[in-house]
Amino acid sequence: MHCEKCGTELIPKFLEYEGMIPFCTKCNEYRFNMFNSAVSVLVFNPEKTKILLIKQYHTDFYRLVAGYVNKGESLEECLYREMGEEIGRIPNHVEFNKSKYFDKSNTLISNFAVTLTSEEIFPNYEVDSYEWIEIDKALEAIREKPFTRDLLMSYLNKKK
Ligand SMILES: [Zn+2]
Repeated sequence: MHCEKCGTELIPKFLEYEGMIPFCTKCNEYRFNMFNSAVSVLVFNPEKTKILLIKQYHTDFYRLVAGYVNKGESLEECLYREMGEEIGRIPNHVEFNKSKYFDKSNTLISNFAVTLTSEEIFPNYEVDSYEWIEIDKALEAIREKPFTRDLLMSYLNKKK
């Protein structure tokens, strides 16, 4: 591992309360492991009987509304921005569901749940298609996406 600022090879150095942390001897600074941060959203209809799933980037599987957190942005700001961009709707209330690390893209994903006041959606060019799907059918529709399925299952189990 090398320093992201100067390229010097990092050495492990003890840091109180943290343990052995990669250290750059040239910058004289610790270099914590870097990862991406993203937000994904379980979007429910007013009756909470359906969930909004979208298709994007000409792929044939359903996804949640989601996006990477920009530098300087909070998770909530990212959620409002992504929902505004992708579906043209802003929720009145945001509920945290769970966070989970996705190793394929080295990303910590924070998942939230929101309920809209109507099923009206204004998708932008990033969204190929969207569908309000009954919750049972949604679980089936995302069966090949265990990561997404786990987020939805966890939320539903908490509500039981
Ligand atoms: Zn350095």
